[in-house]
Amino acid sequence: MAGLHFLLVPLVAQGHIIPMVDLARLLAGRGARATVVTTPVNAARNRAVVESARRAGLDVELAEIAFPGPGLGLPEGMENMDMVVEKEHFMVFFQALWKMDAPLEEYVRSLPRRPDCLVADSCNPWTAGVCARHGIPRLVLHCPSAYFLLATHNLTKHGVYDRVADDLETFEVPHFPVRAVGNKATFRGFFQWPGAEGFQRDVAEAETTADGLLINTFRDIEGAFVDSYAAALGLKTWAFGPTCASSLDADAKAGRGNRADIDAGHVVSWLDARRPSSVMYISFGSIAHLPAKQLIELALGLEASKRPFVWAIKEAKSNADVQAWLAEEGFEERVKDRGLLVRGWAPQVTILSHPAVGGFLTHCGWNATLEAIAHGVPVLTWPNFADQFSSERLLVDVLDVGVRSGVKVPAMNLPVEAEGVQVASGDVEKAVAELMDEGPEGATRRARAKEIAAKAKAAMEEGGSSYADLTDMISYVAELSRNKSHERDDTSAKALPSKPEL
Ligand code: UDP
Repeated sequence: MAGLHFLLVPLVAQGHIIPMVDLARLLAGRGARATVVTTPVNAARNRAVVESARRAGLDVELAEIAFPGPGLGLPEGMENMDMVVEKEHFMVFFQALWKMDAPLEEYVRSLPRRPDCLVADSCNPWTAGVCARHGIPRLVLHCPSAYFLLATHNLTKHGVYDRVADDLETFEVPHFPVRAVGNKATFRGFFQWPGAEGFQRDVAEAETTADGLLINTFRDIEGAFVDSYAAALGLKTWAFGPTCASSLDADAKAGRGNRADIDAGHVVSWLDARRPSSVMYISFGSIAHLPAKQLIELALGLEASKRPFVWAIKEAKSNADVQAWLAEEGFEERVKDRGLLVRGWAPQVTILSHPAVGGFLTHCGWNATLEAIAHGVPVLTWPNFADQFSSERLLVDVLDVGVRSGVKVPAMNLPVEAEGVQVASGDVEKAVAELMDEGPEGATRRARAKEIAAKAKAAMEEGGSSYADLTDMISYVAELSRNKSHERDDTSAKALPSKPEL
């Protein structure tokens, strides 16, 4: 749809910026102009990918707005959730985020023409006022699964959270398309922590007043959850993903979200030398940090499994105990013929799309989940917090493409004496053996994963459900934007512009 201009405003967290940049590419692929509006640090991380899209002829660009953190006492440059490690910075970070409306307002005012639509991350409700003041249609992008959105919606609506005595009391999610059992600790919604009530209220309100919802998922795996959620909110909803299944060249894969801390070519050569489906990839995403004792158990379990692995171990950069253990215990030397450690940011999609990779030990972030699904890689699930336990249920109980590591609750719900350890090395060894099993059970799981991956790819191609949803969203925005323009032009009109039919 030529001529439409979208502003895209992601939450400043890797798991939210990456799919937003993907959405920008997808919109530009349909002839629109897409501007990702973010802070300087986040713009720098994504510049290479955006530049490569521009070289490919896509009308995608980055626009920088200031992050108000330093004004509230945060260190200069702390602009992404993955930089917030100290507890004292956590709440202030969100307060600063909520102040981004002023720089966004200034940016919008500087534009020669009103954009046709602003797509805001669901965690950026502060965009709503700017859109209302400037008459810009606003869509909300959800980055977790529809399973999680519907579950937390139903639990709130039916008062289940209020009824339970504590975080660990078991319940079943009411009016849910599948049987889902858990507790508050493993079904906690976003902003459902003490002190965050105001944030949560703003998020809920900005969602109900949006012109429509986008969810990075696809109907073959989540159709029932998407439809029930759309009906519950009474909003037009589009399932337009998984964005990671859209075609990406080697540079775009390797540079997703940040510059990798290892040469992607080196990883590919390392994987080229391994048998198909023989390698485990291990990553806990951008935010979850495992305690040192748990990481050591994991390391020993991987060693005992005797399987080849690539491990994105960001704690090797950030945790002194882990650094000391790696330096002193000789782990890397012992596994050097079959283990590759990435100290920091790994080129995850480059790795997952390599045929040598046959298993993914994942924290079940929704992007990691979609990346596993889109590349047909069975998973060993190790959730940490928020929606990750819901992704585990979807992967293991609904899609049947995973094996559980045995994690029961977020680390913060563990008794102090557990020291963060939920999975001992022996359990890791057993779970890896089960996942990488070359017998009939493993083969069936792998075949199922490949089948779903083919559906993911088909959904994103012309004629697929996600492709069609994006087409529908673009037409809806075109009409909405036209209506808003007429409203402004027609100075005598008193009535609000009508929304297109749902
Ligand atoms: N990612 C990556 N390299 C890393 C860690 C993460 O490329 O070393 C990417 C990953 O592919 C995914 C995103 O960062 O697209 C993380 O999002 P996810 O929802 O999986 O987890 P989060 O970081 O939000 O917990």
